[in-house]
Amino acid sequence: MKNHLLRLARRPHGPIEEDTFAMHEEELPPLREGQFLVRTIYLSIDPSLRGQLVDVPSYVPPVQIGETMRGFGAGEVVDSRHPGFAKGDSVTGSLGWQTYCVASGNETRPFRKVTPGTSLVQAVSVLGTTGLTAYFGLLDIGRPKPDETVVVSGAAGATGSVAGQIAKIAGCRVVGIAGSADKCAWLTGELGLDAAINYREERVGRRLRELCPRGVDVFFDNVGGPILDSTIACMNVRGRIVACGTISTGYGEGSRADPIQNYFLFAPRRIRMEGFLVTDFQDRFPAALDALSGWVAGGRLKSRETVLDGLEQAPRALREIFEGKNVGKMLVKVASAASAGSSSGS
Ligand code: NAP
Repeated sequence: MKNHLLRLARRPHGPIEEDTFAMHEEELPPLREGQFLVRTIYLSIDPSLRGQLVDVPSYVPPVQIGETMRGFGAGEVVDSRHPGFAKGDSVTGSLGWQTYCVASGNETRPFRKVTPGTSLVQAVSVLGTTGLTAYFGLLDIGRPKPDETVVVSGAAGATGSVAGQIAKIAGCRVVGIAGSADKCAWLTGELGLDAAINYREERVGRRLRELCPRGVDVFFDNVGGPILDSTIACMNVRGRIVACGTISTGYGEGSRADPIQNYFLFAPRRIRMEGFLVTDFQDRFPAALDALSGWVAGGRLKSRETVLDGLEQAPRALREIFEGKNVGKMLVKVASAASAGSSSGS
């Protein structure tokens, strides 16, 4: 059996380029005792993957030239010599950018079976790391109270679209910031946010003052840079800023966030800004997934995916999330699911 995989060929400077990755074909080795073989169905395309191409140690070591690109995803077990996984199981885990993954069950981020009733798409989006990031970032770090005003940047993206909806479920007034009129219409139309700002065409600071007459209590920030700065100016006393990510930096070599002009407001307004990693909350994932599944089942939490077809599209997908081409979760569909009930839920 052949495996197709994308290896890092050259470190990109700026956006992902045509020659950043190279496709290879390899014969799959026979499974050893304790291993299982997973066929990749979906790859989750996450901004942090760009950061892992920078040759600087971070919370995960950088991907090396010649290494198969890392990536979380969902797939199906097609062969197994592992007691915990059987042929036909749907799983999520660190599959990497390849059509098949030989797994041992001892991976740093362990493979997990997909909960029955959850589609593979949901397992890598709203009912996976994306939903959990929004859940813990908003509820644990942001701690919104009913009737408070919540602003979300990157609001039409994977994490932001879930965070905005959870803020509505929490009884807040919610304003989303996103990069196109269509995205803004989706936020206020289908997702039920109270208002949205197209940051590419509107003055964010001025619009926030108009749309948030009572100030901003919680800011869930996926972006950093000038959008963060403008929102700080609108924060209320004891406002909370959830530092989820800084995609405006591009996560490339030497990327630095723009200086924050409004930092002087933190002390007088007693603003709290706190960063987090979703993995900080690992012990509480099951309870959070129960809550997220309940909201999805009850129609209170909607999800949307942008899906590119074929493993060879993964580099393009990673480039395009930095260009705002996705609405909701960016996924690459590598193969079709064979087992019934585990196909796309989008
Ligand atoms: P995403 O929001 O689905 O995709 C990224 C979005 O960012 C794009 O669709 C684009 O939408 C927006 N964007 C890109 N460049 C921008 C810029 N210069 N200024 C403003 N917006 C820009 O991606 P995601 O996977 O959900 O990740 C969202 C954020 O969460 C990222 O910062 C990521 O690093 C972070 N994250 C953090 C954790 C954690 O544990 N802390 C976990 C997962 C993700 P527009 O059209 O609106 O520009």
